[in-house]
Amino acid sequence: MLHQPVALSPVIKSLLGVVGGVAGLTSLSNIVEMDITRKEAHLSKVFLLDTNKKSLDPIEPGYARKLLGWGKAAVYKRYPFTLILKEARPDATPEPLRLKLDPGSKTTGLALVNDATGEVVFAAELTHRGQAIKSSLDSRRALRRNRRNRKTRYRPARFLNRTKPKGWLPPSLNSRLENVMTWVRRLYRLCPITALSMELVRFDTQLMASPEISGVEYQQGELQGYEVRHYLLEKWGRKCAYCGVENVPFELEHINPRSRGGSNRVSNLAIACHKCNQAKGNQTAAEYGHPEVQAKAKLPLKDAAAVNATRWALFERLKATGLELETGSGGLTKFNRTKRELPKTHWLDAACVGKSTPLILKVDRVRPLRVMATGRGLHSRTRSDKYGFPRLKLTRQKRHFGFQTGDMARAEVTSGSKQGVYTGKVAVRSSGSFNLTTATGVVSSISHRFFKLIHRADGYSYQTV
Ligand SMILES: [Zn+2]
Repeated sequence: MLHQPVALSPVIKSLLGVVGGVAGLTSLSNIVEMDITRKEAHLSKVFLLDTNKKSLDPIEPGYARKLLGWGKAAVYKRYPFTLILKEARPDATPEPLRLKLDPGSKTTGLALVNDATGEVVFAAELTHRGQAIKSSLDSRRALRRNRRNRKTRYRPARFLNRTKPKGWLPPSLNSRLENVMTWVRRLYRLCPITALSMELVRFDTQLMASPEISGVEYQQGELQGYEVRHYLLEKWGRKCAYCGVENVPFELEHINPRSRGGSNRVSNLAIACHKCNQAKGNQTAAEYGHPEVQAKAKLPLKDAAAVNATRWALFERLKATGLELETGSGGLTKFNRTKRELPKTHWLDAACVGKSTPLILKVDRVRPLRVMATGRGLHSRTRSDKYGFPRLKLTRQKRHFGFQTGDMARAEVTSGSKQGVYTGKVAVRSSGSFNLTTATGVVSSISHRFFKLIHRADGYSYQTV
């Protein structure tokens, strides 16, 4: 029964809400969660574990609410929303899911896709903190430099005094990689993931370099054309190779004409405006007076083939998980997304990565979870002023009145000028007057008495949009 999620009519849904209230649930946390799930009725699916933490098929939110109402399950995790059953399901054979990744420098898209049905079960957009890490390292460097130059004893500059281990990545890039791996691990614990897909390269150079590869491996002949066209646009900077005009429809142009034995290879192709293409006619680029075009076209595909270090490192780490791993090019992702007429977002790009992408992607019920990497706080016990002198003394204690900065909480303020219900990320003060960052802004100075914890700080903050 668990494996056939029941679609509930709105009438039954509202009934359930009433029944749940009358029955008087004993667990306080369940009441909070019931409330939240009712409001977000069109949310993507809910993860489900059995009592031994074995992952089962994700279920519809309506069914999740029923399970909670019947007292058959409890809330295991708020972000991503996960229930734990109160019984074991050792015989359950959940449908395999594929976790697809589109790693980006600022944001990584994640999508869980059921390859058999084409359904996107869950999606998230993970925002990295590379810039935050870089700027805090920069400020640390500045303070240390300052300290050396102050009127103190002479301290020699220390630099290049560390050996970097093989595969070392700068801290800002490494943090990105660790963010992604953390989420792969977390999702792996919550649902039956059997395969991974990631976007590795921007252009599939093998596909472009040998135009003879026919429809055997790549079923749609158009894909190659698509990839080639996008590569050429990139290579020639979206300008006509001859006159440099921009923002006009371009034509594929053979530098050495077909009629004179020029090949279809990408090294013999350029983009040109209609006028130049006509004017050039049956001449080579050099004869037409543009030997530089000929030279530029010959340059290797190095820039396109270069996989950035972070993606390579991620590829290696994902391979080490032992799960089936598929890679795709950026061109293929875009091709898949355009074919399915999906808008450009990070999570939809993730869902379109790789050749395994189902012909029809069911995405309309998905609301991606926005995940922001926040870090876990500072070691520093002071705040410094701009000269590097200590300004504040921070408490050694991280937790105040049962909360710590980064916890996700819900505040029901019943008195004072800030009456209302807020959900968001807490920033604690030792005085007990906390700030709360909600989706709409910061609500400052709320007493700790009004807060109810919904998710312990785990290095990330969350938002459902
Ligand atoms: Zn032109």
